[in-house]
Amino acid sequence: MKLTDPQFLAALPDLDVAHIPGASLAARTSLGIGGSTDLLVIRRHDSLPALFTLLQQAGVAFRFLGGGSNLLVDDGDLPWIVLQLARHDPEVTLEGNIATMDAAADLGRTVTFCAKHDLGGMEGLIGVPGTVGGALRMNAGAYGMQIGSYVREIQLYRAAERRIIFLRGSDINFEYRHTSFALGDIMLAVKLELPSKPYREILQGIRICNEKRRSSQPLNQKSAGCIFKNPPGASAGRMIDELGLKGLQVGDACVSSRHANFFLNAGHATADDMLRLIAQVRDRVRAAFGVELETEVILWPAH
Ligand SMILES: Cc1cc2nc3c(=O)[nH]c(=O)nc-3n(C[C@H](O)[C@H](O)[C@H](O)COP(=O)(O)OP(=O)(O)OC[C@H]3O[C@@H](n4cnc5c(N)ncnc54)[C@H](O)[C@@H]3O)c2cc1C
Repeated sequence: MKLTDPQFLAALPDLDVAHIPGASLAARTSLGIGGSTDLLVIRRHDSLPALFTLLQQAGVAFRFLGGGSNLLVDDGDLPWIVLQLARHDPEVTLEGNIATMDAAADLGRTVTFCAKHDLGGMEGLIGVPGTVGGALRMNAGAYGMQIGSYVREIQLYRAAERRIIFLRGSDINFEYRHTSFALGDIMLAVKLELPSKPYREILQGIRICNEKRRSSQPLNQKSAGCIFKNPPGASAGRMIDELGLKGLQVGDACVSSRHANFFLNAGHATADDMLRLIAQVRDRVRAAFGVELETEVILWPAH
């Protein structure tokens, strides 16, 4: 989608919003799939209410992009624009056991920063790409931990109320790759309460998690991590593996031969290739196990 309304475009500099026309989403997602559209980069949180008023007045549909590591975006000219928060320095500030993080911050860097200051708990998140905001929305987790367990308070822009609000961690439901945030909530910053641990001990935990990832996941290939959620009490990857579907290919989209729940863009896969591969695997799992797999990856269809 091209933003062409001169009045809309003229209002952006005063709001400190950068306009990037024709941004490629293939270049901004870990799967390397997606068409193009205009991107607005928001440099000041307090400009969000005015920006949302403008978007509504102009009737412009939008999606919100973090680090793009859990997205499958449609191909071609997309009928909505994309919003993204600019990074701010410092990304993390510490006060005792409370780490305040910007939502646009790189998740891995914040985990390492906290570790160096003897704050642990998030070792499992090392190797999870993307931003702090994306991790909060998805309640990212691995190896028995999830980010939601450490949330003390979140600052977010609530589109439905057109204002910035603060929520206590205890007021939010953090479930397995699911949170109770409203659809239009945009995470801006978070206070995490992290347990004190000596750096050496945290580093040891990080090394163990890194090794587990390296030995089981195709880390140097284009993926969005696990494509399906694990059904209660079962492993999606194990079911796909048991059906002998590792290596199954549709166009340039294929099931990783290393981890059956990682689907790869092995060349120039289109969104359609990936969607057809997802549908084939889901059908096979349903037929064999009677289980309906739900995608963990977020789909951004054009229509
Ligand atoms: C190699 C690899 C390994 C992975 N391993 C794991 C793992 O172990 N555990 C795990 O949980 N995930 C894993 N993932 C998936 C992914 O990294 C996480 O879901 C991550 O937290 C997504 O963050 P992001 O910033 O990239 O979000 P995006 O992919 O950009 O967006 C995901 C969703 O969050 C929303 N969102 C993003 N930022 C904000 C914000 N500030 N406010 C409101 N909504 C927002 C988007 O609109 C979208 O709905 C892996 C991915 C890869 C590629």
